[in-house]
Amino acid sequence: MIKIKILYDNTSCRKDLTSDWGFSAYIEAGGRHILFDTGSDGHILMGNMRRMQVEPSVIDMVFISHNHFDHIGGLASFLHDNPDVDVYVPESLRGVKRARNIVHVSAPLRISETLFSTGELPGNEQALIIASPEGSVVIVGCSHPGLERIKEAASRNGKIHMILGGLHEFHQYDLLEDVDLVCPTHCTRFIKGIAEHFPEKYIPGGAGRCVTIPYKPDAAL
Ligand SMILES: [Zn+2]
Ligand SMILES: [Zn+2]
Repeated sequence: MIKIKILYDNTSCRKDLTSDWGFSAYIEAGGRHILFDTGSDGHILMGNMRRMQVEPSVIDMVFISHNHFDHIGGLASFLHDNPDVDVYVPESLRGVKRARNIVHVSAPLRISETLFSTGELPGNEQALIIASPEGSVVIVGCSHPGLERIKEAASRNGKIHMILGGLHEFHQYDLLEDVDLVCPTHCTRFIKGIAEHFPEKYIPGGAGRCVTIPYKPDAAL
């Protein structure tokens, strides 16, 4: 089973969590405990993490999608609490200190049997691909390379089951026809349009949202 908890987002679906412009998610998949991006502010990140009962010390891997403040802002605070992690960053992102192991990713990369990076795409962003029996789960930061390019890169691993994260200005809705589930959040401008086009695929985002694959609506983790 894959578990995803949105820790940091522009909106929140829980009153006890702080919403703020940025994105971060905690993911359990293939035996790894992953922090995907780190939001804008370390204090907010660590606070939301605590309230969502994610213990920083269990995280063994950090995956940074791209070098924008709203995705890397909390990284130093997290590494201060837990430097014992592998940090995967796009090739062009430099200056990360403290971590046990820093991996600069340029070409598509197989991280483990179930985890892959698209590699750094034009737009200086990488997406995380998680293999599952239902198909690939693709986690995106802002989708600056464009969803078409990200989908093309992720499709090398087979059918895409779900896309979760920031989709920026994306509105070419037909690109979602062959995707089973979509959780458009963070910077996604046309969330309403996506939800109206694909009510059966749409999963609302926001800090506090928990999603499992296999998917069950309203999973409590
Ligand atoms: Zn962003
Ligand atoms: Zn961005």
